[in-house]
Amino acid sequence: MNSSALTHLQTLRDEYTARCAALQRDLSAGHSSDSAEQAQERENDEVMQALLAEANSLLQQTEAAIARYQAGRYGLCMQCGEPIAAARLEALPVADTCIACAQS
Ligand SMILES: [Zn+2]
Repeated sequence: MNSSALTHLQTLRDEYTARCAALQRDLSAGHSSDSAEQAQERENDEVMQALLAEANSLLQQTEAAIARYQAGRYGLCMQCGEPIAAARLEALPVADTCIACAQS
């Protein structure tokens, strides 16, 4: 287990935190009084709500991964306890299951 994984997770957490904050700011920004623009803004809001939900979910997964790291269980499958392949962790740093368990 190397500390660069933790640094990577912390960087991801910062990115997702910033993304959530930016989306929340945009969502709470004032809307125009023009009704045609309002319809467009409502559509934009729905897209931003979806992006916000996704960013929140990623943030929670990243925080869970950091908690696992601090507990000394990062990189171990939550289901079978076997180490997760390095390539999988590289592609998906928040992975909490090995490929075999993820596919079952
Ligand atoms: Zn497993």
